[in-house]
Amino acid sequence: MPISMTEQCDADKLTSIYDSDTYGLNAMRETLPSHCYKKIKEVMATGQSLDPEIADMVANGMKEWAIKKGATHYTHWFLPLNGLAAEKHDSFISIFPGDDRLLLEFSGMQLIKGEPDASSFPSGGIRSTWEARGYTVWDATSPAFIRREKNGATLCIPTAFCSWTGEALDQKTPLLRSMETVSNESLATLSSLFQENYKKVFPTLGIEQEFFLIDRQFYLSRPDLINSGRTLIGAKPPKGQEMEDHYFGTMNSRIISCIQEVEWSMWKLGMPLKTRHNEVAPGQYEVAPIFERANVASDHNMVLMEVLKATAIKHDLVCLLHEKPFAGVNGSGKHNNWSLATDSGVNLLEPGKTPSQNARFILFLSAIIRAVDIHADLLRASVAVPGNEHRLGANEAPPAIISIYLGSQLDEIIRSLINDEKSQDLTQSQGDNNMSLGVKGFPPLPRDSTDRNRTSPFAFTGNKFEFRAVGSSQAVAFPCIILNTVVAESLKFIREEINREMKQHSKNYAFNLVIKNVLKQHQRIIFNGDGYGQEWKDMAHERGLQNLRSTPEALANLNSEKNVKLFSDSGILSSVELNCRQMVLYEIYCKSITIEAKSLNEMITTLIIPACFKHQKNVAESLNSIMPFVQSQKSFPQPLAQISHLQDLVESVNHLSDANSKLLASIKHSKDVHDEKVLATYLSQTVIPIMNEVRKHSDHLESIMDDSYWPLPKYSEILFMR
Ligand code: ADP
Ligand code: MG
Repeated sequence: MPISMTEQCDADKLTSIYDSDTYGLNAMRETLPSHCYKKIKEVMATGQSLDPEIADMVANGMKEWAIKKGATHYTHWFLPLNGLAAEKHDSFISIFPGDDRLLLEFSGMQLIKGEPDASSFPSGGIRSTWEARGYTVWDATSPAFIRREKNGATLCIPTAFCSWTGEALDQKTPLLRSMETVSNESLATLSSLFQENYKKVFPTLGIEQEFFLIDRQFYLSRPDLINSGRTLIGAKPPKGQEMEDHYFGTMNSRIISCIQEVEWSMWKLGMPLKTRHNEVAPGQYEVAPIFERANVASDHNMVLMEVLKATAIKHDLVCLLHEKPFAGVNGSGKHNNWSLATDSGVNLLEPGKTPSQNARFILFLSAIIRAVDIHADLLRASVAVPGNEHRLGANEAPPAIISIYLGSQLDEIIRSLINDEKSQDLTQSQGDNNMSLGVKGFPPLPRDSTDRNRTSPFAFTGNKFEFRAVGSSQAVAFPCIILNTVVAESLKFIREEINREMKQHSKNYAFNLVIKNVLKQHQRIIFNGDGYGQEWKDMAHERGLQNLRSTPEALANLNSEKNVKLFSDSGILSSVELNCRQMVLYEIYCKSITIEAKSLNEMITTLIIPACFKHQKNVAESLNSIMPFVQSQKSFPQPLAQISHLQDLVESVNHLSDANSKLLASIKHSKDVHDEKVLATYLSQTVIPIMNEVRKHSDHLESIMDDSYWPLPKYSEILFMR
């Protein structure tokens, strides 16, 4: 049962408990000398580097604080390319030389840099095991935190992780680089075109996390859930989500008490969890925080996923973060709400009140439209994880075609910017420093009040974009790196174009001309209609937009010439680093699908077919037992129902067994394919269709067999019993 909930549940305590397990500004103010506090505060605000003397003081303050919180150990907590969080713990203890006295120590050097043996982390070929040294480097902009277990606590220090030759082996390093780049491009744009000067611009992220909670008993009886996080077979229950009675429904008390415990844990860690509700599918839920700076939001989301899983177990539940644990009901996503904010808190995607603010808004919007159009392949690749294939490739939100939803008001404004011939004349007459877009009735921009389009993978929602294609189990860093990188490149392009045009034209004219051209050229990416239907697929095809349904297709172009240039020009990923990411993603895909295929094959062989035989025997024996009556009495009805049931059974088991043999053969064949890209395509095009066929026969048998013989908990139990 949950620990210390009674003590925590008091709302009065919320303000004092909030952030209390985090070595953030509050804790620093209390534990550091004031000059040191000022310095570290500046470092946290601007991301500049830290001198060793200050690092020693911070390390000492952090250690004293952590020990008071019960921590015996510290760990450099990092995000390797496998999409999970990683940590190696060291205790604070050291022995005083020549003496047996135990000391508790932690130096600035230990804080700033760690050296875990990194040989088992995926590197996509960057390192061989014999030169596997890797370094972790403190990310001072994301606060250290305490993780508590029953028998002690650990100080977790968010770090970046790189090889000894300096290549990024993690998600954090390029995330920080991309944040820096998008900040620099935004600052340059704001100061040169709008005379607005700020110290820094931050990408902000508000991450809505969807997940399933199911009873642990059911989980433990399903090898597919244990092995792969999703059900590989399972007939549709009579009732799924069609009544729409789960979405926003009253929350079940066992579920809410689990989520409450998660919230208290996360509040202590300074994650501003704000919203919780039932999601569309039965057994599906969502929690969402108030947005934060991207690297902090990303770290918090990684911790949240761990805390969700760990807390669920305490409540005899299991949290499924997989994108599609159950066929036939909605899968889970992770909406990434993204924007850009200045250090003074100005949201650059907030439509403005004055002509100049609106021009700024339109410039950033146009940069994003251009970026998403040119680099739709990258955005698609950034969400290409195996589980997400069941959402993006299938008939579910959102489709695999990347497009932008703007809403009708904004769309109208964009159209008039593209079409209104008068606009250029109008702006020409205005002063150069009072930039505006000469569209009649344009400023001030009202917040869009139209209904939101839930089918778009990338939707503008009033003052931010919502990237909805991200999978629920994914680390958000990679999608965010892509967004930051492509938007930074577009801001640079537009700024340079305007500057070039300004050599011949007034600033206003140049601005309008460039924006108009950009919008004209990239308007094909804007789509405000229903993203599910065939109509959109056809239209997208006509517009030349890609529909990359499978993961291998989506990953293929990650390191195309265009993308290598984009990342190396901006310094966010070298071509080696980009190639390595692609290899790791292929590897993850191949391993996941292979595990699923093997798991399915084994379940069918050892659980389903034996159960079918038992049931068959039962039916056959029952049939035999009445045959004497049928044969001896002329008027006795023929046991047609039993006969046809038995026929169906025998036939279906034959089909199942054949398909399962084919599956086994394909698994064996895949062992001989050594190139990851070729293997991924083989798994996607050959193995997955066979798995689907196996499932079809198994699900049919499940729906006709005596319930008492079926060896697995069924959807109706798993989804509805709690
Ligand atoms: P929904 O999309 O379900 O209607 P909300 O509109 O309440 O939900 O917001 C979803 C998320 O968007 C929240 O996490 C919120 O903090 C986040 N969000 C709001 N403004 C911004 C912003 N400027 N940048 C990033 N995220 C934001
Ligand atoms: Mg949302």
